[in-house]
Amino acid sequence: MYHRTDTVPVKVGNLTIGGNNDVIIQSMCTTKTADVKATVAEIHRLEEAGCQLVRVTVNNKEAAEAIKEIKKQISIPLVSDIHFDHRLALIAIENGIDKVRINPGNIGKRDRVEAVVRACKERGIPIRIGVNAGSLEKHLLDKYGYPTPEAMVESALFHIGILEELDFRDIIVSLKASDVPMAIAAYTKAASAFRYPLHLGITESGTLFSGTVKSAAGLGALLSQGIGSTVRISLSADPVEEIKVAREMLKAFGLISNAATLISCPTCGRLDIDLFSIANEVEEYISKIKVPIKVSVLGCAVNGPGEAREADIGIAGARGEGMLFRYGEMIRKVPEHELLAELKKEIDIIVKHFEET
Ligand code: SF4
Repeated sequence: MYHRTDTVPVKVGNLTIGGNNDVIIQSMCTTKTADVKATVAEIHRLEEAGCQLVRVTVNNKEAAEAIKEIKKQISIPLVSDIHFDHRLALIAIENGIDKVRINPGNIGKRDRVEAVVRACKERGIPIRIGVNAGSLEKHLLDKYGYPTPEAMVESALFHIGILEELDFRDIIVSLKASDVPMAIAAYTKAASAFRYPLHLGITESGTLFSGTVKSAAGLGALLSQGIGSTVRISLSADPVEEIKVAREMLKAFGLISNAATLISCPTCGRLDIDLFSIANEVEEYISKIKVPIKVSVLGCAVNGPGEAREADIGIAGARGEGMLFRYGEMIRKVPEHELLAELKKEIDIIVKHFEET
């Protein structure tokens, strides 16, 4: 099996996906792509949340032509999502798209794929072969009877073959399914079959709650094996939530270096402060921090001081007050009503220190 660090790096705009590079977080706009103002506004929100690569649907000529203006107003690379009509990919390419995603199940005959490949090759634009269990080619469904991991990998390999015959190797592959075990099996087989970087995702995974759990289960299993160079969490929710989930998931595997981590206790009968609201506020406060600090919020003095000492900054509750810890040392006691404000002040000091060193 090829570990993510063994994959062939592929340039996408100013990013490189695969090889020794960081796992890249991406999302997809929910706006009509032809509505440039709304699309750019959503991309700016995603970028602020930590999105590094963003995809838009290119489902008509207006969308394909809007790429030019959108590109002028954003700074992260832009991907066009193409289904059915390869001519829209050609227009998007002319208008400066950074990457093209094609769905092998519906892009049509070989000559259409070849036309897209030639246009991408001329401009140095990579292609994602985006296999989806829900839209496999008919001949594969006839052969296997229903979507299977083998059918998904066969679809990917067939299209990789077309691109390689045209001497095109700027390839990224995804094999998405809404069924978690099927997606895990497909990605695992793919990681043994070729060295192109894998874009991970559990498609149509559900709402913020259920989709987060399914995506974390599926992508977590793959990331823990060293599979996956870029991720997209697919949620029926504001796409900013997808970025938050992706960042949290990468933190869990130590695969992100520009995010703050919250450690908070589950609470129990010993709880002495209003911990849930403090933890939620701190989580929101640190969500946009781009340095790897650890913040702990613990309910009481039993495990609190010990855990707080492991973090860069932390609090442990006591009756009507809290102890503030910095780099393992208790620095002062603070009344409960001032605890959150004091913790935020200390977080700011640590972040500034990180940024200066
Ligand atoms: Fe309970 Fe204290 Fe542990 Fe929190 S830190 S779970 S309040 S014992």
